[in-house]
Amino acid sequence: MGRFAINLADIEGEGEFSCPQCGETISPDDDSGKAYDVLATEEADGLLQKVTIKCKICGSVINLEGFEALKEVGYSESSFDTDDYLELM
Ligand SMILES: [Zn+2]
Repeated sequence: MGRFAINLADIEGEGEFSCPQCGETISPDDDSGKAYDVLATEEADGLLQKVTIKCKICGSVINLEGFEALKEVGYSESSFDTDDYLELM
């Protein structure tokens, strides 16, 4: 078991990643509940900011951040304020 943080802005694709501990594929689109449980979510201005999940395979707790990067197709500085982002951490 462990605790990890993953910034979705740093990974390829649409938010899928492998559990840092056991390698299980975890996808935000997978709502089957087999791979992970959602422990907590944080929203601001109606947008998802942070999701804490727990891998069901190994029990690791993973904090997901960087959701705004997924929302913005044409990622631009005007839609991303670094100071605001840091305040969330
Ligand atoms: Zn795992």
